[in-house]
Amino acid sequence: MSRNTITDEDLRAYLAEHLPAPRMALIEQSLRDSEPLRRQLVTITRDNDQGGFSVGEVWRRGRLSCPTRGQLGAYLLQALDEGPREYIDFHLQTVGCRVCNANLADLQQASASAPEKQRRRRKYFESSAGYLRRD
Ligand SMILES: [Zn+2]
Repeated sequence: MSRNTITDEDLRAYLAEHLPAPRMALIEQSLRDSEPLRRQLVTITRDNDQGGFSVGEVWRRGRLSCPTRGQLGAYLLQALDEGPREYIDFHLQTVGCRVCNANLADLQQASASAPEKQRRRRKYFESSAGYLRRD
């Protein structure tokens, strides 16, 4: 079987780590090089979700791609499941992806500025109201 014919079957075996090491390495390399193959893998993972492969797990294993801005937003809001959250942690901290760290900082700033100002104002108001009441 040549380098260019990686089948769904191969990818499933890869996910399950049921291949000899050289074949694992070859598929890993091909995943790094080939965007269509990465998409193929993600599709298989979706089909495979009931088989115990979370997308996050595969992402982490293959370092497949950057999370979307939407996913980073959900991460920021702590709205993600454990798998994707761990993947993004890994991607940001261990891989140290600059693009995503910049994106996250940007999102943090955007989401912090408006509500934070309101919250501070309300807090100020409440404490002065309390102060006046006590007086
Ligand atoms: Zn990234």
